Amino acid sequence: MQANPTTAGSLFLVAAPSGAGKSTLVNALLQQEPAIKLSISFTTRDPRPGEVNGREYHFTTVENFLERRAQGEFLESAEVHGNYYGTSRILIEQQMAAGTDILLEIDWQGSQQVKKRFPGAVGIFILPPSIAALEDRLKKRGQDEPNVITRRILAAGGEIAHASEFEYVIINQEFALALSELNAIVKATRCRFAQQASRNTALFAQLGIHANPII
Ligand code: GDP
Ligand code: ADP
Ligand code: 5GP
Repeated sequence: MQANPTTAGSLFLVAAPSGAGKSTLVNALLQQEPAIKLSISFTTRDPRPGEVNGREYHFTTVENFLERRAQGEFLESAEVHGNYYGTSRILIEQQMAAGTDILLEIDWQGSQQVKKRFPGAVGIFILPPSIAALEDRLKKRGQDEPNVITRRILAAGGEIAHASEFEYVIINQEFALALSELNAIVKATRCRFAQQASRNTALFAQLGIHANPII
């Protein structure tokens, strides 16, 4: 079946306050849905123990980051918790053009920027069951210095205030339920008329389905 690459793929934006479980949920989703391409961001923060350059992030210096930004290399960029983060423009535009499903784990500021460029992007905000749970998870994760954890918890309220800008909200209390909700959003998005029509042009033509029905 022919695919129309301009609208066949979906772009997912997943945001959350630090410690809500965003990366754990996304990694579990990608196990179930390996066709979704995860965008690897550039960041100026230090790698955590176990993080590998090019796998979790492209780790870089402030100087190099600002140079890339000045060259227009980023689709979006933002300062979050005192570090710079940015998404490679070329990789996203290439994958969108190829009709690939892409997922960006970015903050609300970056999500606003991407939505302007790709209005059909699907925004998903992950909430913790409470601020106390957030603090507990960040401490148990044990990968950030105490001052970094404090900073992230203090920022959580301001980030959560942007949840209403996202189409979908998942409360990550019971992990399995939250994962099934994330998976359901992905599946529902793929069933949008525009996506189905671009993925199945021959079938839609054969069945006489028109893109702009007269209502
Ligand atoms: P996390 O909270 O454990 O995910 O900690 P990180 O240091 O990995 O990320 C901190 C924040 O930066 C989170 O809100 C991420 O969503 C956000 N972030 C990561 N990559 C990007 C990016 O490329 N662009 C933007 N705007 N934000 C990003
Ligand atoms: P984020 O990417 O949003 O900063 P992580 O995915 O690193 O968050 O999750 C933070 C911590 O919380 C991790 O140690 C993770 O294993 C744990 N976690 C994730 N989801 C749940 C959940 N539903 N219940 C309890 N702990 C969770
Ligand atoms: P770890 O990083 O050691 O895998 O997990 C750290 C903590 O996160 C665990 O103590 C656990 O409470 C929580 N956690 C990790 N994965 C899950 C999960 O799939 N479901 C739930 N409910 N908690 C999890």
